[in-house]
Amino acid sequence: MRILFIAFLLTFPLGLQGQKNTVPVPERPVLVLGIVVDQMRADYLQRFGHHFGKGGFRRMMQEGFSFRDCRYSYIPTYTAPGHASIFTGTTPRVHGIVGNDWLDENGKSVYCTRDDSVRGIGEDGRQGRMSPANMKAGSIADQIRLAGNFRGKAFGISLKDRGAILPAGHGANAAFWFDFKNGNFISSTWYRDLKGKLPAWLEEFNRNGPVRACMDSVWKPMLPPGSYGAADDQPWEKPLVEGKGPVFPYLLKEAGGPEKVAATPFGNQVLTMLAMELIRKEALGSDQFTDFLSLSYSSPDIIGHSYGPNSVELEDCYIRLDRELETLFNFLDQKAGKGKWLCFLTADHGVMENPNFLKEHQIPARNFSEAGVLDSLRRFSLQETGKDWFAGIDNLQLYLHKAYFDLPEEVQHKLEKRFITRLRKEAGVSNVFSLLGAKPWPEPPYLDKVSAGYYQKRSGHLQILLDPFYLDQHDGKGTTHGSPHAYDAQVPCLWLGWKIAAGSDAGSVYIEDIAPGLAGLLRIALPNGATGKMLSIPLKD
Ligand code: ZN
Ligand code: ZN
Repeated sequence: MRILFIAFLLTFPLGLQGQKNTVPVPERPVLVLGIVVDQMRADYLQRFGHHFGKGGFRRMMQEGFSFRDCRYSYIPTYTAPGHASIFTGTTPRVHGIVGNDWLDENGKSVYCTRDDSVRGIGEDGRQGRMSPANMKAGSIADQIRLAGNFRGKAFGISLKDRGAILPAGHGANAAFWFDFKNGNFISSTWYRDLKGKLPAWLEEFNRNGPVRACMDSVWKPMLPPGSYGAADDQPWEKPLVEGKGPVFPYLLKEAGGPEKVAATPFGNQVLTMLAMELIRKEALGSDQFTDFLSLSYSSPDIIGHSYGPNSVELEDCYIRLDRELETLFNFLDQKAGKGKWLCFLTADHGVMENPNFLKEHQIPARNFSEAGVLDSLRRFSLQETGKDWFAGIDNLQLYLHKAYFDLPEEVQHKLEKRFITRLRKEAGVSNVFSLLGAKPWPEPPYLDKVSAGYYQKRSGHLQILLDPFYLDQHDGKGTTHGSPHAYDAQVPCLWLGWKIAAGSDAGSVYIEDIAPGLAGLLRIALPNGATGKMLSIPLKD
């Protein structure tokens, strides 16, 4: 009898014997969800806040903990470096993802996640030849896998390949991204667990899933007219359908193929459904080993680029995204259990308003053309030296031709000086300097931002900085990001679930502090390249 009782105790550890509601919060969450909202500025939480329901963004702000001043500490503020920095806890200086693209030593463009040594799974073109190989540091997902001896699982999903692959890290079970041509979610042979095949549940999702259903959808504002802050149908907006106005309703059938699903809030809906299906079918959060899922919503970026922050389209996108988050959080409560999962939400960069919209309101904004500046500098170089010394331009960095470095050093220095003097004459340029070690470097704070974004083997040779409100985009429609300025740099940083206490902090924190903060919560090693400090996230006792 006594032996039986002891055996019973051994089978059912003491903490788990009580009623369901007395089950203690686990030492570690069973599932960590890292959510990135592509292009979400921190101020959207307040600006669209009155539209939010109880269970999405508002739940994160009220029930969870928020850092109200979280910023990017480097340039350029683009998608790939943003995702890499959030999840590696460092900046391009260490992880090497200096842009979405950069130029190699022959002046050829390199895409951040392109990898010709792997094959696509679920497609036969180029969209599947992707991997995290170019990322030189490990993700927090890698660290979670290592800490659990690879018994915990890690996945990354997004419509954008880079939004799925970089967060999931090198040792993930899989990353899945959207094939913009055929509307399927695909992967690559980098992920050995897949054994060259998509999981059966994903094939089913692709065949009968929500992407096909969305193709017949119409995007109309969710709220009645008059509920939105901005006016619709503005000349600086880029229409979804070629030849039509940028105005509701948008018929997806008219718009084109599945890539247009990504340019509407239906893209967010599809991703939420994929997340829930993945959690169900891969049984995430179902045992004591912490699992990890990164989820990057790409559609807010695509919509933001077309219509800008002050548009009915963007406002409607966030109202709907809020409902998606509520659906997801309710699902997690039910599937993993309330208090057992942990989630953080941030963005890979912010965005600027459209310059023509700003000009209409007396704010002196202008467009700037990277390609135009390269052209004029090439002409200058030819005229002055008889040779075009430039290989190209990317991320506002000019790349010099390989042959330039065969010139005697004094000649190089002299030429650099002349190029810099010439570039400084361009409207909107606040500072140009050499990344080759020659003076002058910029003053702080840009010095720090440039140096944090600089990886010698991939970065260019002459750095251009623009004044605030200058936008590197030439056609006057829509908007973009990439600068060191506040509108591109400040993003949300919200934490919810597990033992996280309610509250907020107004002190400055940086994007590279997120992954070390998570490592601190999980009591695991920092991601291997981490340079950020551990966010101090208060816990309930
Ligand atoms: Zn982005
Ligand atoms: Zn973007």
